[in-house]
Amino acid sequence: MIPREKIPWFPTVDYQKCTGCRTCVDSCPHGVYGWDEGEKPRVAHPYECVVGCRYCANLCPSEAISFPPLEEIRKLMRELEASSRKG
Ligand code: SF4
Ligand code: SF4
Repeated sequence: MIPREKIPWFPTVDYQKCTGCRTCVDSCPHGVYGWDEGEKPRVAHPYECVVGCRYCANLCPSEAISFPPLEEIRKLMRELEASSRKG
């Protein structure tokens, strides 16, 4: 089992595009987002994000949420699994 903290999959918010509609905060079932006094979402618990999930990004009306390329994450996970099997 790969420790979740070794997998860099979590949302990044582009604050130039974000309008502060709160959709991401209200829709993530894993409590990844917090809400800043500045009226914008904050990625408060990045490692609670489910690897491969893009739910909030698909709902964001401003296309302000992005993730790393999934293929890169898969490759990294294969490498981490291979090295953990070697012990
Ligand atoms: S859903 Fe998009 S626009 Fe709305 S608060 Fe989240 S990042 Fe900002
Ligand atoms: S991708 Fe899924 S788990 Fe991750 S923050 Fe968005 S809704 Fe939550």
